[in-house]
Amino acid sequence: MIRPDDVGPDSEGCDHFHDECGVFGIWNSPDAAAVTALGLHALQHRGQEATGIVTFDGARFHSHRGLGLVGDNFSNARVIASLPGRVAIGHNRYATTGETILRNVQPLYADFEFGGFAVAHNGNLTNAHLLHRALVRRGCLFQSTTDSEVFVHLIAISLYSTVVDRLIDALKQVIGAYSLVALSNEALMGVRDPLGVRPLILGRIIGAEANGGWVLASETCALDIVGAEFIRDVEPGEIVVINDQGVHSIRPFTRAPERFCVFEYIYFARPDSVMEGTAVYAARKRIGEELARESGVPADVIVPVPDSGVPAAMGYAAESGIPFELGIIRNHYVGRTFIEPTDHIRNLGVKLKHSANRPVLAGKRVVLVDDSIVRGTTSRKIVEMVRAAGAREVHMRISSPPTTNSCFYGIDTPERSKLLAARYSIDEMARQIGADSLAFVSIDGLYRALGKAARDKAAPSYCDACFTGDYPIPLPDQGDNSDRQLSLLSEEN
Ligand code: AMP
Repeated sequence: MIRPDDVGPDSEGCDHFHDECGVFGIWNSPDAAAVTALGLHALQHRGQEATGIVTFDGARFHSHRGLGLVGDNFSNARVIASLPGRVAIGHNRYATTGETILRNVQPLYADFEFGGFAVAHNGNLTNAHLLHRALVRRGCLFQSTTDSEVFVHLIAISLYSTVVDRLIDALKQVIGAYSLVALSNEALMGVRDPLGVRPLILGRIIGAEANGGWVLASETCALDIVGAEFIRDVEPGEIVVINDQGVHSIRPFTRAPERFCVFEYIYFARPDSVMEGTAVYAARKRIGEELARESGVPADVIVPVPDSGVPAAMGYAAESGIPFELGIIRNHYVGRTFIEPTDHIRNLGVKLKHSANRPVLAGKRVVLVDDSIVRGTTSRKIVEMVRAAGAREVHMRISSPPTTNSCFYGIDTPERSKLLAARYSIDEMARQIGADSLAFVSIDGLYRALGKAARDKAAPSYCDACFTGDYPIPLPDQGDNSDRQLSLLSEEN
């Protein structure tokens, strides 16, 4: 177990190597680019900053990458027509500060002696800085500031001959959490990190030809929209190689107990996805039920903070017998508040995003349910808004344990010193957000909601480092105080 001190992905000098993202790939479909655009559209919640598609037409690779949403970039028929081919991969990018530049937009593409290679990555490499520095010393010329480019250079310098062997060689050198989709002249590939922290699933277009229609995607919610059915999760540490002969599986790593990211269930995944056999929507409702059992409070109405708090609030209401009401209405034409880079804009964002449904709140004892408190900005604003609408009491209930540690594995969390729960007791947090009471689901309650008896301290089933500080994958870059300037060329877009 590693317990890094007060450092985080946003810490000074360490602020560019992290993405939370959505990835999609398709093998042998007549409309590969259009299908990929649809798949990426269903995965839009995993990244709104930029998007890209690379296709292969049997002779040449084609790519289109752009800043903004999938719809902004791929609704134009001319763009889709410029991406011919029956195979494709795509990516939605969700990065935090600074580096919103086109050269960071994935899929990344490179020409090698063995042919073309495109790769799209969800996750975060925890030794990317160290590898980057070593690669630059060897003469590698980096074109972007994303950690994903490390894969491309490791593949380039590998002494193995086949693409798959070079990929395995690269994977053995990286440390971190990742799901990859990659495309070569010969195959579509999908990879999950050895602990399976980040998700990746395999699907098949319904009625596809015998040698095609294979789909790789971050989440099952991308399957329906492209007319595909779920086949299985790609396993932790597995590489699937898809070509006209079918799906071939390689397991180059020694097996380790898996540690899927528990925050996917709490917040990040779309509620209609099924991850590792567990339906996200049902899991969120069960977390709400646990929360009601653990920290019920007399109240008149249960109100979710939309949209992320809705399923947990439904579970809380069902368990407590208190009516569920939409006491806060969300404006859907505003992006996630979290994406906005400054506190000032974030504050404005929250006001733009939510408004109070006064008749539901006035004179009532209100239980507000949200999925998490990070900096506390959202809770503070919402509590204030609900009080201003006439609520008599406001009790905040959170469907995750307190977020006390930064994520280094691909979920965007600020540095530890900015996490409210890392600095204050729960009573003090309640005071800071202005609530009459505040409670979080316990870590055991969370595990119970996910079908476990409790959290097994010796062998937890999930990566829950953001709540426990138990980091299952080493963090070599955190101990590296070298000059990071090598990777920090900045550029206006
Ligand atoms: P904060 O306002 O900083 O306390 O952030 C908490 C709010 O942000 C909650 O309403 C969550 O739904 C949402 N949230 C939590 N984690 C993330 C994340 N990694 N990315 C985007 N939004 C998040």
